[in-house]
Amino acid sequence: MKDITLQLQNAAASAGRPGPRLLAVSKTQDATAVAELADAGQRAFGENYVQEAAGKAAKLAGRGLEWHLIGHLQSNKAPVAAALFDWVQTVDRPKLVEALARHRPADRPPLNVLIQVNIDDEASKHGCQPDDVPALARTIAAEPRLCLRGLMAIPTPHPDPERRRDAFRRTHALFDALRAGYPTVDTLSMGMSDDYAIAIAEGATMVRIGTALFGARPPKGA
Ligand SMILES: *Cc1c(COP(=O)(O)O)cnc(C)c1O
Repeated sequence: MKDITLQLQNAAASAGRPGPRLLAVSKTQDATAVAELADAGQRAFGENYVQEAAGKAAKLAGRGLEWHLIGHLQSNKAPVAAALFDWVQTVDRPKLVEALARHRPADRPPLNVLIQVNIDDEASKHGCQPDDVPALARTIAAEPRLCLRGLMAIPTPHPDPERRRDAFRRTHALFDALRAGYPTVDTLSMGMSDDYAIAIAEGATMVRIGTALFGARPPKGA
C-alpha cells in the first residue's frame, strides 16, 4: 500500500504532474482483503460485477468506503447499481444514463459517472466512440440525479505498455475538451498495474490498480 502510493507519487513527480487518486481494484478479493487496505487508509475501491460488489459493500458498511463500478453494466442491473455505487465509470450509452438517473435513490447524493470511451475502436470492447462523447455528456449533464465527472478508458492491452501511450494521449485530449464545457468534470481514469506510470505522464487523475496492490488474482472459478 505504502509502496504503490510512493510509486504513484514518484511517477507524477517525474512527469511534473499532480499525484493521481488511487482506485484499489478489489475484484475477486474478499472483504477481509478490502478491510485490510481500508485499515491502511485506502478509501476508494473498484469492482467489476454488481453482485460481487453488493456482498462486500454489505460486509463493510459503515466504514465510509467509496465504491466504483468499473465493469460493463447491463441495463437490467442499472437499478441495483444506481443504489449501490458511489461512482459508475462505465457509462457508454443513453439508455444506461436514463436507467441510472431514474433509479438513483433520492436520499443519496447524485451518482458520479464517467463516460467510458472505446479509445482504440476495438470491436470487442465496451465504451462509446470518441465522436459520441459530446452527445452523451449532454445527456448526462441534463440529469440532476447524475454528476458528470469525466472519462474512463482501457487501451488495447498491447504487450508493450509503451504502445498504449498514444491512446492515453488521445483520451487526455478528449478529456480537456470535455472539461472546457462542464465545470463538474475533474477525473480522467486510466492506467492499471502495468502501465500507470505512462498513464500518469499522459494526464491520468485516477489510476485503477489491482494486482500491484493485492498480488495476482485467483484464477476465475477457483
Ligand atoms: C481488473 C481491472 C483493473 C486492474 O487491473 P490490474 O492489472 O490488476 O491492475 C483496472 N481497470 C479495469 C477496468 C479492470 O477490469
